[in-house]
Amino acid sequence: MKNTLPSLANFLKNLAPSSTILTNQLAKKRAAEGHRVFNLTAGEPDFHLHPIIQKAVIQGVEQNHCRYTEVAGLKELRERVAFLYNRSFDEITISNGGKQALFNSLICILDPDDEVLIPSPCWVSFPEMVKLCHAKPIMAETKSQNQFKMTAEDFEKHLKHNKKIKALILNSPNNPTGSMYTENELRVFGEIIKKVAPHLWVICDEIYSRIVFDENQHCSFLNACPELAEQIVIINGLSKSHALTGWRIGWSLAPKKLSHAIQMIQSQTTSNVNNLAQIAAISALPVYPEEKSLNEILDRELEKQLRYLTIKRNLLSDGLMNLPQITFDLPRGALFIFANFSSLHLKDETTIQLAERILIETGVALVPGDGFGIPGYLRISFSGSESTIKEACQRLAEYFLESKKNSILIG
Ligand code: PLP
Repeated sequence: MKNTLPSLANFLKNLAPSSTILTNQLAKKRAAEGHRVFNLTAGEPDFHLHPIIQKAVIQGVEQNHCRYTEVAGLKELRERVAFLYNRSFDEITISNGGKQALFNSLICILDPDDEVLIPSPCWVSFPEMVKLCHAKPIMAETKSQNQFKMTAEDFEKHLKHNKKIKALILNSPNNPTGSMYTENELRVFGEIIKKVAPHLWVICDEIYSRIVFDENQHCSFLNACPELAEQIVIINGLSKSHALTGWRIGWSLAPKKLSHAIQMIQSQTTSNVNNLAQIAAISALPVYPEEKSLNEILDRELEKQLRYLTIKRNLLSDGLMNLPQITFDLPRGALFIFANFSSLHLKDETTIQLAERILIETGVALVPGDGFGIPGYLRISFSGSESTIKEACQRLAEYFLESKKNSILIG
């Protein structure tokens, strides 16, 4: 008999689900089945909500902040975000996390068949969001010896040879590699844009801008190339910096024409971000000179958390040193170590299968590099607790040293 059931859109066949969310769910499923799981998949800092933010939200409840807000977000919040960049509030749209801010920007910029240049390895959602806009991601492969950063030569080559490229997505600090572009490198990119592709949009995902280690400093593309402001979109939010992942506070900073388009899209999809979450965000951003003391309190808290994250990054790095034959660079920013595990694969084993084997045999959940565009690597988050990281490293080391003794490894 003929199948008369309604069908789904064809383009869904070309989309991949988020591999980070998938592995996180798999880990949670095993934990629910009663297995001990050490989940190092999610990029989700574990620090506690600051009392200043708690108080603001409780007040928001008491004052009955239950209604719709403006689609673009509460004006006071937009003004505070604009203050961070020394820009005007009508260039800011508050969205449901950096994720929605990014998707809104892409859908307003891209027509079907437009192409978007994305240095790879990259965050799993970049290429899939481009495909959701019926456009085409062009992956610019980078090399570990260049800290997984796109070189100026490669950038220029792509732009010269492919006139369909309408936008670049630049993520610094990068998920999954932890690499960061310096001010000088961004300036060189800016010169190339002016020379070769003056109409290029540059979408800068800066969600990890406040999670930067050692002597490294985050530089925004907007600061490196202010003369390109009319073609730059900045994506950021409070998910990572303030451990507010579940409250969905992100924003875009974009030229006014694009901002209006973004707000039109958001008005037809989700409308405003949760009113109370916006109240929380206002209290998390005491930016004005008269709020100096509040700002100092929250800044000190963020610095404390950064020191704690540095300790956890080093703990993970030291623990991984005990594994045979894996290689990695210490990340300069973000929440992950991206390690080359290719010598620990079994014969014919994919990295997805390797991650599953590790989960089953050791209880440690890691994200395979395939979703980031580079099999052979595993992404390991150090955003969880110290005890989880310690125990996970111990289990990995014991398992792989034992496997090596039994010489079941190919490499
Ligand atoms: N951009 C990158 C590079 C990310 O890693 C993430 C989250 O993991 C996001 C954006 C999305 O952040 P949000 O939780 O604010 O939507």
